[in-house]
Amino acid sequence: MGKVAKGVSCSVQGCSDKAVISLASANVAKYLSVSKSEKKAYLCREHYKQYKKMSKHERELERARFRL
Ligand SMILES: [Zn+2]
Repeated sequence: MGKVAKGVSCSVQGCSDKAVISLASANVAKYLSVSKSEKKAYLCREHYKQYKKMSKHERELERARFRL
């Protein structure tokens, strides 16, 4: 996770909101349509919320499998 310089906008296709966070694009691309050719993906508040929600769900599934 990294800080985002001012003026950078969200990497998700069709979104031009201000980015608040940068993440490894390979991880973000699993859930949202961002370009994997860039190392970092920049997310706005709203897309970061979505990303957290979706990645949390997957982590919970993994934990559930691990217990079996
Ligand atoms: Zn966005």
